[in-house]
Amino acid sequence: MKVLVVNCGSSSVKYALFEMDGEKKLAWGIVECIGLPSAYYKMQTMNTEEKKEVVEITNHTEAVDLIIKELLDKNVGIIADINEIAVVGHRIVHGGDKFSRSVLVTENVKKDLEGCFSIAPLHTHAHYAGILAVERKLPNIPSVLVFDTAFYQTMPDYAYMYALPYEFYEKDHIRKYGFHGTSHNYVAQRSAAMLEKSLMELNLVTSHLGNGSSITAIEKGKVIDTSMGFTPLQGVVMGTRCGDIDPAIIAYLLDEYPQYRNGAALNDLMNKKSGLAGISGLSGDMRTIIKSANEGVKKAILAFEMLVYSIKKYISAYYGILNGIDGLVFTAGIGENSAPVREAVCKNLNILGIEIDEKKNNEDSNKERFISTDNSKVKVMVIPTNEELMIARESKMVLTSMS
Ligand code: AMP
Repeated sequence: MKVLVVNCGSSSVKYALFEMDGEKKLAWGIVECIGLPSAYYKMQTMNTEEKKEVVEITNHTEAVDLIIKELLDKNVGIIADINEIAVVGHRIVHGGDKFSRSVLVTENVKKDLEGCFSIAPLHTHAHYAGILAVERKLPNIPSVLVFDTAFYQTMPDYAYMYALPYEFYEKDHIRKYGFHGTSHNYVAQRSAAMLEKSLMELNLVTSHLGNGSSITAIEKGKVIDTSMGFTPLQGVVMGTRCGDIDPAIIAYLLDEYPQYRNGAALNDLMNKKSGLAGISGLSGDMRTIIKSANEGVKKAILAFEMLVYSIKKYISAYYGILNGIDGLVFTAGIGENSAPVREAVCKNLNILGIEIDEKKNNEDSNKERFISTDNSKVKVMVIPTNEELMIARESKMVLTSMS
């Protein structure tokens, strides 16, 4: 069975085509900068090197048309007929409180998704455009929606509620939703396989550390809490996002700075100009921060320390909430690639039974692996995330459960 996974952003469509028999990735790529003169298309297949072309693409429908045309290209030889694609899986960032699991797209599902426009306008409008574009191009092929928020449906109310007047929850659905769920779900499943135990027997803390970062507490397969909240702004210090701050700072900025008297400007400040970039004044990219910190740039050192400290706080809190953990997982750009971050995060957590092996931690590898010492009570793992494969698996599961 072949599954096409699409991930539509406001100006991009990313895709991957899988053969689920053996879970092979056949082709993958992205149409980027849709609607801009700088629009381009990148594609790679298991048979061919990456190719990149400047293209004129003005909307998601044209992007999907281009992707399908390329997949059908006889010279590339990935698929001969569009009907070889059994199902299309769409990544959906925010399912609000309407979607607790992956679903087949129907008219009712689309209506419910429209209900999510107000809580995640940028993402949901883009996803919706992608769903319509796929429907237009592949009218006979079912689509499945896979939600980043679905993994968090097991959180107890005392964890997902904010202590604001209750009416804001009832009327505006203001609560913690959690993000990166597909990634946390994938690495949780992989860590159970690595530990040779059922997920239902394990307590885990999974750390997705990338441009956006989140830490999740999983008790016997069920999420108990996660660091991101109503939006992906809450939680640890991130590349350009501030993470947790005293909410009264927002009221202060509103009162003192005329330019921040609207939500968009405040959101821009906290989402795009803060975090590592805001503190260092250099960049939100961890590689630049580490390089500058190593050269002794004080604000880069501070940014690094703040990020590490915020991660340690969440890991320690979730360790306590779970009454101990079996495994700690690092994933995503920073988690998978930065030995210094992993080392700094795990330093002085030996009271929790977390001890990493310096040699294993510094090993240059892109494979899933243990980096804890043999004696470490908590097994520390680096697991490359694979959200696309997770979406493909979910889509296949929904499709097969229908038949
Ligand atoms: P992601 O959002 O998962 O693509 O992760 C992007 C982040 O990973 C950026 O901050 C990158 O600087 C960081 N990253 C990627 N490779 C490395 C590396 N070798 N060392 C430190 N950070 C890295």
